[in-house]
Amino acid sequence: MEKIRLGRTNLVVTRLGWGGIPIQRVGEEEAVSVIQAVIEMGVDLLDTARAYTNSEHRVGMALRKATRPAVLSTKSTVKSGKIYEDVLESLKQLDVKKIPIYHLHSVSNFKDYEEVMGTEGAYRGLKRAQAEGLIDHIGITSHNLRVLERAIEEGHFDVVMACYSFLEPAAANRVFPLARAKETGILAMKTFSGGVIEEAGPALKFVLSTDGVVPIPGVETLERARENWRVFSEGGSLTENDKERIEAIRKQWDRQFCRRCDYCQPCSEKITIQFALGLKSIIKRIGTNTQEIGWIKDLIEKARHCSECGECLERCPYQLPIPDLIKENLAWYDSLINL
Ligand code: SF4
Ligand code: SF4
Repeated sequence: MEKIRLGRTNLVVTRLGWGGIPIQRVGEEEAVSVIQAVIEMGVDLLDTARAYTNSEHRVGMALRKATRPAVLSTKSTVKSGKIYEDVLESLKQLDVKKIPIYHLHSVSNFKDYEEVMGTEGAYRGLKRAQAEGLIDHIGITSHNLRVLERAIEEGHFDVVMACYSFLEPAAANRVFPLARAKETGILAMKTFSGGVIEEAGPALKFVLSTDGVVPIPGVETLERARENWRVFSEGGSLTENDKERIEAIRKQWDRQFCRRCDYCQPCSEKITIQFALGLKSIIKRIGTNTQEIGWIKDLIEKARHCSECGECLERCPYQLPIPDLIKENLAWYDSLINL
C-alpha cells in the first residue's frame, strides 16, 4: 500500500485519507461504524474540524473502537489566540492527549492571514498548544491559492490543505511545486469537487497522479469508502475511459462550476460568491439541518441581497453567469427546506 511522509513531518500515512464533513449528516451509530471501517481498511489520516458539528466527537468514538491507530488532523476557524481553547475542546471531543496536525481553518484572504499571523493571532495560540505538547504540527487550509503560496514561502506551516480536482487543478502549478520545494506536506480537499464528480476512478486517480499529494475525500457511506479504497489500492493510472469521462465532466461543468478563485470579488453586497455558487454541494455534504448552523444561515441570507448589478460577471475568468446561478441555488435551497 502506497505510503508517504507528509513534508518535513515524521508522519507517514497511506496516500488515501478521509474527510469528516459528510459524516455529520448520518446517524451516530452509522457514522461511527463507517469511520471505524475506514480505519480498519488501512486509511491512516482522518481529517475533521471544530466547524463540522459532531464530526470530531464521532471520530473520537470510532478511534476508541478501532484495532489500529490513525493520524488525526483537525482545525479551527478562530482567528485569535483563543484558538487555544478550541484545541482543548478538540482534544476532549476526539478523546486524545495530543493531535498530530492542527490547522488554521479557512484563511480566506491576506487580511485574514495577517490577522492569524499577528501578535494576537491564532498562529500564536497554536504555537502555545504545540509548546505544551497538545499538538505536533501546525497546518493551514484555504481556498485561496495566493494565501497558501505566501504561507508556504514564509515557512511557518508543516502542512497545507488546498482544493484540488480535475475541475479545479490550479494548485498543481502554483502551490504544490512550492510545497514540495519547502518540504511542506500537501493534503487535497474537494477531490470530488464537493460532490460534483460522482465517479471515484477518474477523480481519485487524477489526484493520486500528482506527486506528494494526499487526497482526503469526505465519505459517509461504507459503499463509497470501499469504492475509494478499491481505486486507491489497485493503484492504476488514468485509463482512456477515465480521460474521456474527465473531458465530458469538464465540458458539462465548464460554465457552472465555481473554481473558488475569488477573482469576482469584491461584491457590492458583500456576498461570498464562491459560497453562494457552491451551496448545493455544501448542503449535499452537510445535510439540510443548516438552519442550526449559524455561519451557513448568514451566508445564505447575504446571498439573497444579490442586486444583479453584474459587476462580478466581468471579473470571473470562467464567464460564469453568477447572479443566475445564485438565484437558481437559492430557489433550490428554499424548495428543499420547505419540503
Ligand atoms: S451581481 Fe450579485 S453577486 Fe455579483 S457583484 Fe452584483 S450583487 Fe454581488
Ligand atoms: S465565480 Fe468565477 S471568479 Fe468567482 S470564485 Fe467562482 S470561478 Fe472564481
